[in-house]
Amino acid sequence: KKYVYLFNEGKADMKDLLGGKGANLAEMTNIGLPVPPGLTITTEACNEYYVFGEKFPPGMEAELEQGLKILEGKIGKKFGDNENPLLVSVRSGAKFSMPGMMDTILNLGLTDTSVQGLIKSTNNERFALDCYRRFIHMFGDVAMGVPHHEYEEILAEEKEKEDVQFDNQLTVKALHTLLDRYKALYRKHTGEDFPQNPYQQLLLAIKAVFGSWNSDRAIVYRKHNRIPDDLGTAVNVQAMVFGNMGDDCGTGVAFTRNPATGERKLYGEYLINAQGEDVVAGIRTPLPISLLEQDMPDIFQQFESISQLLEKHYRDMQDIEFTVERGKLFMLQTRNGKRTAAAAMRVAVDMVHEGLITKEEAMLRVDPLQINQLLHPQIDVNAEFQVIATGLPASPGAAYGSVVFDANDAEAQGKAGKKVILVRTETTPDDIHGLVMAQGVLTSRGGMTSHAAVVARGMGKPAVCGCEAIKIDYTQKLFTVGDLTVKEGDFISIDGATGKVILGEVPTIAPELGGDFAEYLGWADEIRTLGVRANADNPKDAQKARDFGAAGIGLTRTEHMFMEQERLPFVQKMIMADTIEEREEALSHLLPFQQEDFYGILKAMEGYPVCIRLLDPPLHEFLPNREELLVEITKLKCTGGDSDLIKKKEKLMKKVDELHEFNPMLGHRGCRLGITYPEIYAMQARAIFQAVAQLTKEGIKAIPEVEIPLVIHVNELAFLRKQTVEIAEQVMEETGVKFEYTVGTMIEVPRAALTADEIATEADFFSFGTNDLTQTTFGFSRDDAEGKFLQHYLDYKILKENPFVTIDPKGVGQLMEIAVKGGRSSKPDLLIGICGEHGGDPESIQTCHQLGLNFVSCSPFRVPIARLAAAQAAV
Ligand code: PEP
Ligand code: MG
Repeated sequence: KKYVYLFNEGKADMKDLLGGKGANLAEMTNIGLPVPPGLTITTEACNEYYVFGEKFPPGMEAELEQGLKILEGKIGKKFGDNENPLLVSVRSGAKFSMPGMMDTILNLGLTDTSVQGLIKSTNNERFALDCYRRFIHMFGDVAMGVPHHEYEEILAEEKEKEDVQFDNQLTVKALHTLLDRYKALYRKHTGEDFPQNPYQQLLLAIKAVFGSWNSDRAIVYRKHNRIPDDLGTAVNVQAMVFGNMGDDCGTGVAFTRNPATGERKLYGEYLINAQGEDVVAGIRTPLPISLLEQDMPDIFQQFESISQLLEKHYRDMQDIEFTVERGKLFMLQTRNGKRTAAAAMRVAVDMVHEGLITKEEAMLRVDPLQINQLLHPQIDVNAEFQVIATGLPASPGAAYGSVVFDANDAEAQGKAGKKVILVRTETTPDDIHGLVMAQGVLTSRGGMTSHAAVVARGMGKPAVCGCEAIKIDYTQKLFTVGDLTVKEGDFISIDGATGKVILGEVPTIAPELGGDFAEYLGWADEIRTLGVRANADNPKDAQKARDFGAAGIGLTRTEHMFMEQERLPFVQKMIMADTIEEREEALSHLLPFQQEDFYGILKAMEGYPVCIRLLDPPLHEFLPNREELLVEITKLKCTGGDSDLIKKKEKLMKKVDELHEFNPMLGHRGCRLGITYPEIYAMQARAIFQAVAQLTKEGIKAIPEVEIPLVIHVNELAFLRKQTVEIAEQVMEETGVKFEYTVGTMIEVPRAALTADEIATEADFFSFGTNDLTQTTFGFSRDDAEGKFLQHYLDYKILKENPFVTIDPKGVGQLMEIAVKGGRSSKPDLLIGICGEHGGDPESIQTCHQLGLNFVSCSPFRVPIARLAAAQAAV
């Protein structure tokens, strides 16, 4: 087994072993780019480190020593040398980039001896001492847990003593004092002197990187991004180059295209005379990369051509880190750049037009769930609002919420359902749990590549960064802008597309869905074979679904129509009825409402099928809550209320008691209602067919599919189908209009799936109701499981995914497979879809594609996501 690879021994496709950073450094080295030499310790070493009880695996250290010797030979410098010492950076690098999650240590190798060597070799005492104090700070903080802010406090005190504003204005004398104080701080917290052996420093740093794989924040990030816990991280040890040796030095980060918009133009930031961490950590606000052309024209040109080369080489937008040391350019990292959904789409569309990638490849360049960002409202620029400050537009979208200044508060309030905006001077990986629960983030420092910006873009959350006009006071929990004070709990809005910070809540407008969006999803439609419909219960949602590209309605839940205020009394009357006549009387009042509903939806979906499900929930859902009713009756009795009213309420109470079931979800619902009260389904069928007749007369093509829910036996369907067909024929006769329709069923109970071959003989179509199918297959109550125990199952990894979100392939998926096979064995052309929540989940859509379904159906806002996911499933 080999634990250590020199950069020239690796390749881009070795990400599993070398991590993303290590593999790309190797690739850049091998295509001849200027990369400082280094080596990578494998992810395998990290995993074995844990297997051996947090000890290095046998053989790793020997390989490392040998690798370092080769490195020393290549550079002509020696570790710990008092003439010309080798210094290295130590960085983590997992297979998937986890921005800010893992730790970095720079300038490793400096000791009291070797710092003299650095002074000699650079002839710059101030610079050498500055490197040393940065190293003691980073090493103490990252490897040994010395509190970061205590270093910061000492630094601030020394700057104040010297009366200087910037770190690099500190004198040599002040730096000496600073070093002494830093070392004392290190001793205070670790009980040991600062290590004076570079090799020992290195081993401790490697341990720290391995350890950071299992830090709380890394675990939270992985969970949020669904990255497996067993990948491990690699460690990259690389010869240092210095961007902070003077004004012919610098460091920067750039994207080959704009990560917010996708515009094809170098986009990034740099700082003259600074080290890489200064840019990323947002400590100084950097300059836009376009100015580098004036500051260092040769370097700019060279950088531009390298970045083009890298983009062509990787055939994707790159995120590149570079350093300039004494007028020489070095590449420190390249990776596929994280981007907003808008940018991802534009880059994919442009790259197809540029001939760099195919349409099929383009499909894989946008995460379907990310599309969500594009569908969400933007600030209405025509509205009146008070902009109180403007920062960098770091991650698009509009958000509003009450101000919180602490990630823990953001997490707590967010979990309690409150909308909050997290406001910080800058964020660090320790704030990740707060970012997850906040609507958006506002920072007063840091650039477009600061931690807050990168993480927010990744999560699709609005962010405004580097908004220097706001002054935050954490102790008083407020910020000021000029003479305005905004306190914790006050409402603000942020617009991550323009960088605006606004007082109060602002009106928003729907997003523009033409241009790249339409072109890209148009390609998705060409490529996919799976149909996409929407679940919608009213004409407005049907229209929205159509606008988003839905080709039909996969589920109209008619019970939502029963809940409306003007109808509920008739629904209750229908339930209270003692005789069929009474029930039919109540139903006759509901019929016109239903007819109007169906007319509207079928019209909005003209030319596309609309699947209408007959009444499904248990009837008690339409009656008042028992406890509330009891309180009402008791009150009426105590206050001598109207005796007729009391009688009426008591009758209602009796009905509530009668309808009570211990297990309503397994009770009198679905087609069981249709069997016991055929007149309910008869009314609904009549309303559907009368609407269809009316539309047909008007020359509008209506395609109704009548759906019977919760079927467990072919005979149920046969019974209800017969009634439906009779009513259709009656309506045709009454209206003199001929129309087409189909009758089918939901498959949402295991027995239905298992006997699908029989059921298909009475069905024109199937639609998987995977919400109930999951509930009945697992025996998990869909209303309670998530709140009660499911989270534990996920935390303990007893279940890999929440089965109510992603189709469980082994259980529910197998039943679906049986149902598809069974159904099509009786009717080869049987139309089969899915309309449970899973119909909008990309992973489940993949499953549906593989099972050979005809369509998925999901909520209107998920339609574009489903179109893309279906295309991805097809490539
Ligand atoms: C289902 O069970 O998956 C379904 C779509 O029906 P409902 O969610 O209305 O029970
Ligand atoms: Mg159901």
